[in-house]
Amino acid sequence: MACRGCLGPLGVRAEAGLCGRCWEGLLSLPEHRCRQCALPHETESPCPEPVAWSLGDALWDYHGGRPPFGALLVPGIKEGELGWKGALLRRVQAATLPEWTADVDLVTWAPTALHRRWFRAFDLAEESARLLARRLDKPVVRALRKAIFSGRQASRTETQRRRLAKKSVALRADAPVLDSIILLVDDVWTTGTTLLRCAQALESGGAAEVRVLTLFRAL
Ligand SMILES: [Zn+2]
Ligand SMILES: [Zn+2]
Repeated sequence: MACRGCLGPLGVRAEAGLCGRCWEGLLSLPEHRCRQCALPHETESPCPEPVAWSLGDALWDYHGGRPPFGALLVPGIKEGELGWKGALLRRVQAATLPEWTADVDLVTWAPTALHRRWFRAFDLAEESARLLARRLDKPVVRALRKAIFSGRQASRTETQRRRLAKKSVALRADAPVLDSIILLVDDVWTTGTTLLRCAQALESGGAAEVRVLTLFRAL
């Protein structure tokens, strides 16, 4: 049997059909990275993408390894590779976390669109948040939801569409975020647009501070 990542021999360190060399593709981000956007940019220059949180980091580089391992793993998991999911979550369990995760008040996650959730039957962001909350011994709260829109998209103007996009994440009415330090978890952080909407929704509910931790960061 060949490794499903690199098609090479599986070898003794293989797990879930992926060889040890592929698993080594879970690489840390560059050491000198911004504490807010997790990108390696000049300390004096502003973050290249908008951030609405005090601290942000990711466990691994999404495109680390050859072939890029996160970019193989995450879409595979979302298509139902349960063995990959289990093996990845074991590594989340063992990973070193930023020291600033220790004093958050609660943990939540970036919501996935309802129809996608139903289709997949599990949610990697939610499962990661629950695992991290257990590790940190903090409560985990379903604080955010995807806003649902009715009406025909085609009939909307560009401005209306943009306004809708802005509101695409909403705070749940009963979310206990007031005056809290919140750890916002997601699976993959690319441009940060989703995280931005989530952080804005949490702040609209009176959160004292939002910190972001994702499994992967696309550099
Ligand atoms: Zn491999
Ligand atoms: Zn930055």
